[in-house]
Amino acid sequence: MASALTEKLTRLVKEMRGQARITEANVQDMLREVRMALLEADVALPVVRDFIARVKEKALGQEVLGSLKPGQALVGIVNKELAATMGEGVADINLNAQPPAVILMAGLQGAGKTTTTAKLAKHLIEKRKKKVLTVSGDVYRPAAIEQLKTVTKQAGAEWFPSTPDQKPSDIALGALDYAKKHFFDVLLVDTAGRLAIDEVLMQEIKDLHAVLNPVETLFVVDAMQGQDAVNTAKAFKEALPLTGIVLTKLDGDSRGGAALSVRQVTGAPIKFAGVSEKIDGLEVFDAERHAGRILG
Ligand code: GDP
Repeated sequence: MASALTEKLTRLVKEMRGQARITEANVQDMLREVRMALLEADVALPVVRDFIARVKEKALGQEVLGSLKPGQALVGIVNKELAATMGEGVADINLNAQPPAVILMAGLQGAGKTTTTAKLAKHLIEKRKKKVLTVSGDVYRPAAIEQLKTVTKQAGAEWFPSTPDQKPSDIALGALDYAKKHFFDVLLVDTAGRLAIDEVLMQEIKDLHAVLNPVETLFVVDAMQGQDAVNTAKAFKEALPLTGIVLTKLDGDSRGGAALSVRQVTGAPIKFAGVSEKIDGLEVFDAERHAGRILG
């Protein structure tokens, strides 16, 4: 099925009929449409600029100028470049560590960290046959600790208790020790987030990272955050060596342009997509399919 963008570009090309051939100026017009499509999908402006520059270079090769269907040829290039930027192939969770493999969850409050922690626990239990322990380092919101307990149970994993009067790094060390003694394969560490980026909290998660030495540090980000996702991603990338991204709420009606922005800013692969509030609403991220969604 032709995307809305393909249709727009095809219309543009039809308007050019009568001209002997597609020119560089026509390609510029088409690229303007691509730019609009990306902005409509909420991809951040600097990311769009970079992206268009890369596509332009490719488009001005013979591929588009010499093509019988230049609109389609351009969409082909855009699609391929989008998928390549967001990462090709499947990037599964890395558990390549002396057990327990520690996975640290980072991101703003409301991004979906706790939900994703449980979804990931279920994924690792069912798909990778692992014994999984979860723990919450969110000492600011007792409700968050309880929430993790509830969803961990739903996932069929074990939950390690923590209380608001403890230091997050002490909680983490306690959980790690318990995980070692009881032969857990994976320890998932949920963390506190705030609505805005916060120095104290960033230091806290840096300390947690230092104590835990996780094999995966996953940045959980809400696809509905759109343009703002860039600033959040920058802040987390500066604080932590991110190893992967989980893009949540892709069941919402955003076109998911945040995927492109966050990937470009962090350089980390997008590993999973959250596609519902339910415990089984986690999918391995499919860059090609997502490219189609961004283009609308
Ligand atoms: P946290 O503050 O980062 O731990 O975020 P939560 O895990 O508490 O999630 C915040 C809200 O987003 C909750 O209402 C979740 O049910 C919801 N949520 C998380 N992931 C998804 C998702 O992939 N799709 C939808 N529709 N809702 C989600």
